[in-house]
Amino acid sequence: MGISVIIPAYNEAESLPELSAWIARVMQERGYAYEVLFVDDGSTDGTWSTLQALAAEDPHVHALRFRRNYGKSAALYCGFARARGEVVFTMDADLQDSPEEIPEMYRMIREEGYDLVSGWKQHRKDNALTKNLPSKLYNATARCITGIKLHDMNCGLKAYRAEVVKSIEVYGEMHRYIPYLAKNAGFTIIGEKPVQHAKRKYGKSKFGMNRFVNGFLDLQTLWFLTKFGGNPMHFFGVTGLLMFLVGFVMTVWIIVEKLVQQAHGLKFRAVTEQPLFYLALVAVVLGVILFLAGFIGEMVARSNSDRNRYNIAEEL
Ligand code: UDP
Ligand code: MG
Repeated sequence: MGISVIIPAYNEAESLPELSAWIARVMQERGYAYEVLFVDDGSTDGTWSTLQALAAEDPHVHALRFRRNYGKSAALYCGFARARGEVVFTMDADLQDSPEEIPEMYRMIREEGYDLVSGWKQHRKDNALTKNLPSKLYNATARCITGIKLHDMNCGLKAYRAEVVKSIEVYGEMHRYIPYLAKNAGFTIIGEKPVQHAKRKYGKSKFGMNRFVNGFLDLQTLWFLTKFGGNPMHFFGVTGLLMFLVGFVMTVWIIVEKLVQQAHGLKFRAVTEQPLFYLALVAVVLGVILFLAGFIGEMVARSNSDRNRYNIAEEL
């Protein structure tokens, strides 16, 4: 099988027949062997009955239906697990991504050796203020933290070598950072292609402004897990030790100062009347807490069933 196209759909009934026909046309023009896998993410409109009709009419079309809405990441995860193609595409169901991009992205994977090719909505047809601008800011941050030079990390249209999607695990709302997940799994040849982008024709967007808040938090989580997931003590130990040392130096200073003043018969304040005393106290306590977090983190890391999962590229 050449190509698998995975399409998460949440209440997108009106778009699906058009999208399915468009994909079929592109695939047949090029003579690709392909399958299209729709994942109905717990839709409450006519999405499932539309998919049933499409699947009945075209043997290339497959679909699965979640009993409730789990989110785009969950839909992609299940799609990835079932994909049989050598090159796997993901695409939004709302006709904003164009199937016409498939042949060139397919070629980039097959001939230019890319592990992953991400679409880049260069001329984005969404609301400028609520989406395009925050998205630029978000992408700049993501580039900085992940080290992957993509303009549009969260583009729904992407192509992968099958091995990539079988090696990563998308969960929560991590679909925004699949290139980062791929990079962490050792797939570093990541490219992008400017793609056509259309206005949403039917229905409405499923993500509000909270996408950006959640997106930034998830980015931090991923960064932390990538750097310290395997050895949390390297993070908590260092910060804890620093805190503890700061507190310790302050404590020594408070005691020495008092002893010296006493010895010289000078006036001195009670230790508990000095602001420094409270700062020292807080620093020492924080240091100990950070250390404890490190130990607990190490226990969690040790019981992680993935702790010895390595992505072996080849073996002779
Ligand atoms: N989607 C999904 N589950 C959800 C939310 C969205 O499967 O809980 C799908 C949705 O049907 C669409 C794609 O994810 O195919 C992208 O969603 P949307 O077009 O709303 O995002 P936007 O284009 O506004 O970024
Ligand atoms: Mg959309």
